[in-house]
Amino acid sequence: MFQTDLYINGEWRAASDGARFDVQNPADETVLASVASGTVEDAKAAVDAAAAAMKGWAAKTPRARAEILRKAFELMTARLEDFAQLITLENGKARADAMGEAAYAAEFFRWFSEEAVRGEGLLARAPASGARILVQQRPAGVAVLVTPWNYPAAMGTRKIAPALAAGCSVVIKPASETPLTMLALMPLLEEAGVPPGVVNVLPSRASGAVVDVMLRDPRVRVVSFTGSTAVGRKLLHSAAEQVLKPAMELGGNAPILVFEDADIDVAVEGAMLAKMRNLGEACTAANRFYVHEDVAEAFIDRFTACMAGLKMGNGIEAGVDVGPLVNADTRNKVAAFVADAVAKGAKVRLGGKVPEGKGFFYPPTVLTDVPDNAACVQDEIFGPVAAIQTFRDETEVIRRANDTEYGLVAYVFTRDMARGLRVSEQLEFGMIGLNRGLVSDPAAPFGGMKQSGLGREGGHEGMLEFMETQYISASW
Ligand code: NAD
Repeated sequence: MFQTDLYINGEWRAASDGARFDVQNPADETVLASVASGTVEDAKAAVDAAAAAMKGWAAKTPRARAEILRKAFELMTARLEDFAQLITLENGKARADAMGEAAYAAEFFRWFSEEAVRGEGLLARAPASGARILVQQRPAGVAVLVTPWNYPAAMGTRKIAPALAAGCSVVIKPASETPLTMLALMPLLEEAGVPPGVVNVLPSRASGAVVDVMLRDPRVRVVSFTGSTAVGRKLLHSAAEQVLKPAMELGGNAPILVFEDADIDVAVEGAMLAKMRNLGEACTAANRFYVHEDVAEAFIDRFTACMAGLKMGNGIEAGVDVGPLVNADTRNKVAAFVADAVAKGAKVRLGGKVPEGKGFFYPPTVLTDVPDNAACVQDEIFGPVAAIQTFRDETEVIRRANDTEYGLVAYVFTRDMARGLRVSEQLEFGMIGLNRGLVSDPAAPFGGMKQSGLGREGGHEGMLEFMETQYISASW
């Protein structure tokens, strides 16, 4: 049913030592598949394949690369249902979330097929010497891509598509919880015309060792990582050895600010999206709710009613809104955040109890009166828990919102656009949702400030992460 081997140089192979690991279905804790666990030897073979394939790939015209990416978009779009099903099986997210992810993932192939042909450069005259200044963008080299489990398809295509558009070849190491979706994408890329070796997939239980050996290979020039800030920091250390180009999409702790002049229906709808898309397992998930005290009761009542209306269950079943979290650790962490907040004085308006039975379920939960020193205010909850606080004035709420080492995304709800823009400019976050609970868009630069990351994915910027600027000083 699934592809479960390593994908290197266009071939499926077992790990060099034969090792495998299990992937489980978080809805019922059964084993879905046993997947080859790449070794350091396999990692070297994957870089060999990528380095050999890159010459031919980089030499193709931008149009030729663009058409292959466009074909990948079309093939994936025709198979969204299959991808969504696989995403639900290994990640747990409900069908609507999985369909949303599959469509979002496919869009990166379309967007970067369009960007691939918009190469930029410069021809100018040096003011003093009169020499010609020629500037061009060149593919940076083999890229190592490391992705998390929360978006098994989209976090991969958001890196693969711009890398291929730029003329780079890649080795991708998907998360061990969810390697099946990325493996399933490989036959599709073959069909689209991606030559062997241009994209290699290396699932592995030994993430640290296999990634480290690749980052020390002189043929690798880019490391693009999405995951936790702690692991990102480690990879930045390894990348320093060879001075690799780093792209880091790391953790978030998104604040959502609801002002007294907000349209409460719009704010509730936006908050539901910002909190519950992907059942809270998103770096963009609203983590800290700051609601103006004049509208707090109205907002909390309507928001709680919406949360109470969500149906929890096996995400593969129709009508289910909230699937299980990805594994026991994630669920236990969410439960611990709630217990800690309650011990410090928070009140449970909804949910808050781990259900009996199989599967890593946690119900939609609303906490009010959450104190600033609660652990869930300091750290990513990564689950369906809304931690609500109130505020009195603009300056105070901006200070509290910025009081974190993270800076990925913030949400602001107000009818007054002057206030919306004024507040947005004072928030130290790479992305702002202004009267919107969703910012992710392949056409926009996604990324964070402070310890949420380095670089941007998507937009025009996404492809530049895989390119180097070359300047030629010329006379003729
Ligand atoms: P994680 O950091 O534990 O793992 C991410 C990837 O790194 C996985 O493939 C994992 O196997 C690998 N990895 C783990 N240790 C490694 C090591 N020592 N060396 C090399 N690779 C290693 O993150 P996760 O739990 O899979 O994902 C959740 C985190 O990802 C959250 O913090 C979330 O905010 C973040 N995230 C960020 C974005 C973004 O765009 N900013 C998007 C999605 C998720």
